[in-house]
Amino acid sequence: PPEAGHDFIRDIVRRDVEAGRTREIVTRFPPEPNGYLHIGHAKSICLNFGVAAEFGGRCNLRFDDTNPTKEEQEYIDGIQRDVRWLGFDWGDSVRYASDYFEQLYAWAIELIRAGKAYVDDQTQEEMRAARGTLTEPGTASPWRDRPVDENLDLLARMRAGEFPNGARVLRARIDMASGNINLRDPVLYRILHASHPRTGTDWCIYPSYDFAHGQSDAIEGVTHSLCTLEFADHRPLYEWLLANLPVPSEPHQYEFARLNLTHTLLSKRVLTELVRGGHVNGWDDPRMPTLAGYRRRGVPPEAIRDFIQRIGVARADSMVDVAMFEAAIRDALNASAPRRMAVLNPLKIVIENYPEGETEELEAVNNPSDPAAGSRPVTFGREIYVERDDFMEDPPKKFFRLSPGREVRLRYAYFVTCKEVVKDADGEVVELRCTYDPETRGGNTPPDGRKVKATLHWVSAVDSVPAEVRLFEPLFTDPEPDAGSFATGLNPDSRHVLQECRLEPAIVEANSDAPVQFERLGYFVRDPDSTADQPVFNRTVGLRDSWAK
Ligand code: ATP
Ligand code: MG
Ligand code: MG
Repeated sequence: PPEAGHDFIRDIVRRDVEAGRTREIVTRFPPEPNGYLHIGHAKSICLNFGVAAEFGGRCNLRFDDTNPTKEEQEYIDGIQRDVRWLGFDWGDSVRYASDYFEQLYAWAIELIRAGKAYVDDQTQEEMRAARGTLTEPGTASPWRDRPVDENLDLLARMRAGEFPNGARVLRARIDMASGNINLRDPVLYRILHASHPRTGTDWCIYPSYDFAHGQSDAIEGVTHSLCTLEFADHRPLYEWLLANLPVPSEPHQYEFARLNLTHTLLSKRVLTELVRGGHVNGWDDPRMPTLAGYRRRGVPPEAIRDFIQRIGVARADSMVDVAMFEAAIRDALNASAPRRMAVLNPLKIVIENYPEGETEELEAVNNPSDPAAGSRPVTFGREIYVERDDFMEDPPKKFFRLSPGREVRLRYAYFVTCKEVVKDADGEVVELRCTYDPETRGGNTPPDGRKVKATLHWVSAVDSVPAEVRLFEPLFTDPEPDAGSFATGLNPDSRHVLQECRLEPAIVEANSDAPVQFERLGYFVRDPDSTADQPVFNRTVGLRDSWAK
C-alpha cells in the first residue's frame, strides 16, 4: 500500500492501529445525491479512500439518501462516475443509507420503548421557538411525556401514511436544557410524502441526517467516520445515539477543515442555483468547481489528487488560493502535454520573398522537457497567421514583438521582418507584408550573428484548421465571494468564445481528448461540443508567464 503521511487524522489512525484498537480500518465517503461532486468533496474522497488504502483497510461509497425531495438518480450515477474518474474504487462497497431504513425504524421503536423518543405534534415553528438559544434553555414540548404505547401507535401511523407532511415528528428525548442545541430533543423522523430514487413510495417517513449517519456507520463497521468541522457540534448526538442503541460496532467521528478556495463557492446549494438559474451551462460547465467541470476543462485527475495532498488536512478552517490549484494543474500537464501551435486571433502575414505556391516541412519539438516525445513536421509557406496581439503598429518601448521594420523569430521556422502594414477601409490592420531570411531556417541565428528579441508562434494558412476556442476566468471576481448574495458577485466576463482560431493540423488529427499545450497560450483540451467541421477547445489553464502582458 502507499505510505501514509502525517496529519492529525492519519496520526490518530496510526495510533489506533498500533495500539490494536482497530483490526481493519474502515472509512466511508458519504455524499448526499443532491448534486454533483465539487473539489471540496475531492478532499474528503482523497482522505477517506487514501487512509483506507494506506492502512490496508476499506472505504465504502455510501449515498446519504435520506432526503428524497432533493435527490435524484442522475446524481447517484454522476457521483460514481466522478469518484472513479478521480482514481478511487470502492469495489463492491457501494452502500445506501436507504438500505438501512428498516433497521433504523426498528431502532426508533427501541428508543420509544426505552422512553428515549417521542412523537411530537408541535408545528415546525413551535418547535423552533421552543428550542431556546445559546444562552437560554429550551422548553419541553407538551408531548414530551406521551405514554410509550401512544408513541408506538403514532409512529406506526406516521409510517402508514395517515398524516400529512409536517404534522408530526419523532424526536429523541435527551435534554432540553443542554448547552448543545443538537441535544435538545433532535428530530429523528419526519413525514415526507415523496418518491425516493431507490425505495420509491415504500416510505413516507424519512430519518434525519443525525439518526441515519452514525447508525449507518455502525452497521458498516466504519471505524473512523471523517467529516467536516460543522459536524463537531453533532458529535455528542452521534455518540448518544450509538450509546443508546444496540448497534453492532462503535465508530468514532473526527472532524477536519473544509476546503475553501478563493474566487470559488463550494456549496451544492449555490452550484445548484448557478445551474438552475442558467448562469452556467450545466454542472459540467468548465467554469464550475465540480469534478465534472474540471474534467471537461481538461484538468487531469492526478492534478486534483496532487493538489489535495499539497494542502494537507488540518483542524482549522482556512482559505486556499486558487493559484495553488492552478500550479498543481500546470505541473501535471507540463510533464505530459505535447506542445503544438495554435493562433487564437489570427493576423495574416504574406512573406513576399517566399516563392509563390511552394511549401516546406520544418521540424517542431513535441516536448522540450521530454526528448522521448520526439518531433513532428509543420508546414511553412508564403502565407501564415500570427497572433494579432503580437503586432503593434506603434509599439511602446518594451514591446519587442512585430511592428513596422522589426525582425522577429517564427518558432521552428525563420526570422521575418515586417515591411508593410495593409489596412482595410476602416483603418483596421488586415495583413502584414514581411520578408524572411532563408539563412535562419529552423529559427536559427544567421551567420552574421543577428539577434531578435521575440519568438512568435504561428500556423500556416495552407493547412491550419479553423476552430473555436473557449477561454475562462473565475466565476467570481471577489477572492472571497459571499455565498448569501452570490448572484451579484458573478463575473460577467467569465467565458470568452473565440471563433476564428486556427490550429496546427496535428492538434485535430490526434483526435484525442488528451490535453495539449498551445505554445505561449496555455493548456487546452478538446470540448465534447466539437463536430467534424468545427473543433472546439477549452483552455484548462494559462502558462505561468502570461504572454499577453
Ligand atoms: P455542500 O456544503 O457543498 O452542500 P455537503 O457537505 O452538504 O456539501 P455532502 O454530499 O453531504 O455535501 O458531502 C459528502 C462529504 O464531503 C461530507 O463528508 C462532507 O463533509 C464532505 N465535504 C463537503 N464539502 C467539503 C469541502 N468543501 N471540503 C471538504 N470536505 C467536504
Ligand atoms: Mg451533507
Ligand atoms: Mg449540503
